[in-house]
Amino acid sequence: MCSEVARPVGADDAARLLRSASSVTVLSHVNPDADTIGSALALAVALERAGTPVRASFPAPHRLPRSLTLLPGTHLLCPPEEVPADSAVAVAVDCSSSDRLGELAGVLDSSGTALVVDHHSTNTGFGDVAVVDPQAQSTTVIVERILRAWGTPVDADIAQCLYAGLVTDTGGLRRADTASLRLTADLLETGFDGPALLRGLMDSHPFAWLPMLGTVLARARLDPEAVGGRGMVHTAIHLEDARGVEWEEVESVIDIVRTSDEAEVAVVLKERPSNDDAPRGLWSVSLRSRGTVDVATVARGLGGGGHRAAAGYPAAGSQDDVLAELRAALGR
Ligand code: AMP
Ligand code: MN
Ligand code: MN
Repeated sequence: MCSEVARPVGADDAARLLRSASSVTVLSHVNPDADTIGSALALAVALERAGTPVRASFPAPHRLPRSLTLLPGTHLLCPPEEVPADSAVAVAVDCSSSDRLGELAGVLDSSGTALVVDHHSTNTGFGDVAVVDPQAQSTTVIVERILRAWGTPVDADIAQCLYAGLVTDTGGLRRADTASLRLTADLLETGFDGPALLRGLMDSHPFAWLPMLGTVLARARLDPEAVGGRGMVHTAIHLEDARGVEWEEVESVIDIVRTSDEAEVAVVLKERPSNDDAPRGLWSVSLRSRGTVDVATVARGLGGGGHRAAAGYPAAGSQDDVLAELRAALGR
């Protein structure tokens, strides 16, 4: 089942639901990041330890970014076509809406109970029951609460998965609040090599990343009049720029573009492979703000979602048209 409006529940209710489930499927969002995979694998490893049949998956293209293969529990991942349709409980992690699950969205309807665990302010309220906390800096923070309520031990394997989501969603802890820093310390005390994992997740790229960066950074433009005079910096990554590097290398470009001092908002247009429905000009747009502009609201208005300072949406059209629509949405 999957209702129109999920019933909000606490971590203890979610823990009870998982503890009594006869089988569980955990679902991550399309183009998965460390928060959605870390959340899924932490839950899946805990369930496996408890003897519950469990599978984790994410939508096509079902290729795990290289950096996430470092995480424990990847043996519990299966391709979308092998996902059981009739688990007692299906859990969606780090997804603001069901369309983030692509072809796996139907699994929420065909499973017994659909549980949503998320921290996006733009969460649409999908699922049957939901633990949504926009104050949590990562979905893994909420997963840790659920595991604590369950009383299941957070060992070094599970801690690494939780840490991966927390450090990446806080920009390598740069934006971490005191609650996140305390949790980080607790997780590190389980004994895994935090700096090594962080380097693998955030500071490690193939050489081909450097020439790709050179090309797309040379194309960056500053538009000081945009966003009511607060400034916007933008660039685009075409499919040919990204040939020879993984999608996750493309995802990292926004973190460099957003360092431009003169711009309140940073934008990266990432070209997506076209299909018959959309011959050319299909984009995934990344938005970042310094905090005075709520880009989540802008992204939601354009069909996406996210957080106040980090959001995204899908777009179709020429690069100029996509930028013009965005400029209008951000205010002149
Ligand atoms: P990204 O720029 O792709 O790293 O995404 C930044 C934030 O926006 C993340 O929290 C994503 O979950 C969210 N986001 C990105 N794209 C979308 C989308 N198409 N729909 C909903 N949320 C999105
Ligand atoms: Mn995510
Ligand atoms: Mn997240």
